[in-house]
Amino acid sequence: MTYDLNNRTAVVTGAASGIGAETALVLARSGARVALLARRAERVADLAEKIRAEGGQALAVAADVTKDLSGAVEAVHAGFGRVDLVVNNAGVMLGNPLTEGRDDEWDRMIDTNLKGLLNVTRVFTSDLVEAGREGAADLVNISSVAAHQTFPNYAVYTATKAAVTHLSANLRTELGALGVRVTNIEPGLVHSELPDHIDNPDVSADLTTWRDAVPPLAAADIADVVGFTTSRPKHVNLRQLVVLPTVQV
Ligand code: NDP
Repeated sequence: MTYDLNNRTAVVTGAASGIGAETALVLARSGARVALLARRAERVADLAEKIRAEGGQALAVAADVTKDLSGAVEAVHAGFGRVDLVVNNAGVMLGNPLTEGRDDEWDRMIDTNLKGLLNVTRVFTSDLVEAGREGAADLVNISSVAAHQTFPNYAVYTATKAAVTHLSANLRTELGALGVRVTNIEPGLVHSELPDHIDNPDVSADLTTWRDAVPPLAAADIADVVGFTTSRPKHVNLRQLVVLPTVQV
């Protein structure tokens, strides 16, 4: 589906694949200018090209949310000007028993899912606040149902998502008063590249078994929710959305 996002300017992180790529498509098809951020330059360039071929406006920005983002911000401002819609979607999910002590994985998840989300929020907050004085302004964080549920072997991933959910609720108490809507979206199982980075064959096999029993949503299903929530009238803020496959408990 498409929505009315004409004259909006969006940044979507993790736009190289999955939920981020589909969200970029929905926002662009709804009339928004969309900056696509991810580390894989070729992926975001290809998607930007696809959006432009459809008549939309897109800018590919190769960037790592865990690193200095000043170049990315400059590129977005030079291409599209002030941003009024940020989708913090970039994330990694690495699974291993805690007894493995994989602090390399813990660092990657904390740095990307939590610190990376904060980095992106920080560099675009002044844009959002300025935009919020005039019209709609949105900060959308992609958390997970894992923020509330327990999943053995994913303790650190679930902790990063619990942090994102709590952070979103608290950011809203600051930014809402300034005219910026904060929306936290908690997807359940979604088909994407997310499980591909798990390096423990037993943990991967368990996830495959679960996915066979519970067919995941498509990334486009979550993208549709992002399009819906950001296109509500300015005074309406969908604060928290849990989006699950119907058969997932
Ligand atoms: P994908 O692996 O397809 O997408 C993750 C995206 O994040 C990729 O485009 C990747 O691009 C990008 N990314 C990863 N690290 C960085 C980084 N350091 N800097 C910039 N971009 C980065 O998985 P999903 O689409 O499923 O994941 C999107 C979000 O949805 C994540 O936050 C995930 O936790 C969340 N989620 C997913 C669920 C699922 O079942 N799939 C369920 C609940 C939540 P690149 O490698 O090019 O940088």
